[in-house]
Amino acid sequence: CGIVGYVGSNSSQDVLLGGLRRLEYRGYDSAGIAVVDRPGDLVSAKKAGKLQALVDELEANPIADGSTGIGHTRWATHGGPTDGNAHPHLADGGKLALIHNGIIENFSELKQELLAEGVEFRSETDSEVAAHLVARSFRETGDLTSAMQQAVQRLEGAFTLLVVHADQPGVVVGARRNSPLVVGLGDGENFMGSDVAAFVAYTQRALAIGQDEIATIRPDGVEVIHFDGTPAEPSEFEVNWDA
Ligand code: GLU
Repeated sequence: CGIVGYVGSNSSQDVLLGGLRRLEYRGYDSAGIAVVDRPGDLVSAKKAGKLQALVDELEANPIADGSTGIGHTRWATHGGPTDGNAHPHLADGGKLALIHNGIIENFSELKQELLAEGVEFRSETDSEVAAHLVARSFRETGDLTSAMQQAVQRLEGAFTLLVVHADQPGVVVGARRNSPLVVGLGDGENFMGSDVAAFVAYTQRALAIGQDEIATIRPDGVEVIHFDGTPAEPSEFEVNWDA
């Protein structure tokens, strides 16, 4: 339902939880974050209920902070509003984390295919197939953008996806079809959001990501391509409201 991503040199936990707080107006039933530490451990926490339940969980059981991360508030469509069905969903032995807004319509066929390959599922969501598809491609390509590009070819429906991988600290890759994604342009840091509320406290400069496009953000740059791999030219706009 709500999505935020961050790469830079500050605490991603602060940016993610602040962004999720500002996305609360959309409504949600669960929340979660995943953070990649340098030199590359992925840690995550997720909780059904209000964002405060996640904040309390992080206080009781702190996870490492890092300057690459993704955060999600979920409005359940497939699978009940439980801790296990909350996002992020992990894959690749816990090294990859993915969050998803929308509905993956062909998820059950993809799930059968992945189960036949021996993939273990930990949730009842439609979203988890996307995590395992990106992980499978990442093992072949070693590059998160290429992995995302391969994975989205298999997906039908509506999705905004964000992924991070422990082996690529300093990178967040996002993709969108029939569901919104915007990039926030900072100085030595960049952001992603399902809407500008996710990052408006940090920057007023934004890029509108188009239909069937993939955005890769690093602390020092942003790259946007179409699903077919050709370069895209997203338009920059100024966010005209106060945080
Ligand atoms: N369909 C996904 C789920 O049920 C994502 C829902 C959302 O957009 O929050 O987990």
